[in-house]
Amino acid sequence: MTTLLTTHDIARIVSKRGLPAVLRQLETRITADFLRWAEFDKSARVASHSEVGVIELMPVADATRYSFKYVNGHPSNFQFGLPTVMAFGVLAEVSTGKPLLLSELTLSTAMRTAATSVMAARALARPDSATMALIGNGAQSEFQALAFHHGLGIREIRAFDVDAAATERLRRHLAEAAPELAFVACASTAEALRGADIVTTVTADKRQAVIVTPDMLEPGMHFNAVGGDCPGKTELHRGVLERASVFVEYEPQSRIEGEIQQMPADFAVVELWRVLSGQAGGRRSADEITVFDSVGFALEDFSTLNWLRDTAGELGLGRQIALIPELEDPKNLFGALRRPDTATQPPRSWRSQAANSSASIRGSDAAQSAA
Ligand code: NAD
Repeated sequence: MTTLLTTHDIARIVSKRGLPAVLRQLETRITADFLRWAEFDKSARVASHSEVGVIELMPVADATRYSFKYVNGHPSNFQFGLPTVMAFGVLAEVSTGKPLLLSELTLSTAMRTAATSVMAARALARPDSATMALIGNGAQSEFQALAFHHGLGIREIRAFDVDAAATERLRRHLAEAAPELAFVACASTAEALRGADIVTTVTADKRQAVIVTPDMLEPGMHFNAVGGDCPGKTELHRGVLERASVFVEYEPQSRIEGEIQQMPADFAVVELWRVLSGQAGGRRSADEITVFDSVGFALEDFSTLNWLRDTAGELGLGRQIALIPELEDPKNLFGALRRPDTATQPPRSWRSQAANSSASIRGSDAAQSAA
């Protein structure tokens, strides 16, 4: 059987463990997997683009586990009552290919992205960072703000969104979740960046947006550039990148999808795992400007799916489903059609058809032989 985790299960995990603990545990898992980078079979994700968005598949594997995530990015989805980003994923056993876990990954993506952002900032931002500008106050924003508050000691959020209602929702949620975290609603990106130690850009617009321009830079800023994550979709002016040291997840994917898609192919970047493992330096001085050009890499979802499976097991959450047939004789796949699954009762209207399944199988056999 395969374990199914729905959005309700993820909400239960967060309510039982607490969001700060979940974010910390995810960061620990993701860091541990980045530190064994060479053990993974990696590839850039496969993207299907349309005028209004993108749908992507993100596979990765080590010697024992394989995972993939299905994820979309449709910035105008709010018009249809849908989030910009929606996701689910699968964790499977490499030795047999058996799917172990089918899980929601929309909430989990927001948490793993925030945990990855903190992992990068821990290595790249100034250790005394206290203020974060947060540009784009949509679905990801609470997770980013709370991860930086609990994980990195950020004490003030300076928020800006072109949609004032989004900023107001963020303010309300943060006031409930972390009343000690100061919140300043700003009238522009430039105002939000003034005096910020860390700048998180997490806007959604399928175009080469210029959210941050070089005149907004202050010495020592760390940029956590999350929103620019597919071809033709960026947030930073190229002049920002020219003045910064730039760090990426998986370079072949980031060259296509990240902020650095604007730069020549030989523009220098450092993969984050090399900094985490001590093979490359991170920030070199208090005045240096650093950029984490985040696009989201499959390995972060691999870590998350493994953590979700372990945690759901500990908490007794999730449902066992017959995603693949349970066969007494593995060569008798056809026989599964004669044994309608009682664990997943079909709706009433299907039951009469199921009761007749043997007859209908015989019927098609008969029809085939007659043909
Ligand atoms: P969302 O649509 O819920 O929120 C985006 C917000 O950005 C909206 O409130 C919108 O009004 C605001 N915005 C758009 N243009 C703006 C501008 N010029 N200035 C200020 N605000 C602006 O989307 P979301 O789920 O929060 O995701 C945000 C972005 O992050 C998306 O582009 C998504 O693809 C990306 N993302 C990246 C990763 C990653 O791993 N790097 C993970 C998840 C999401």
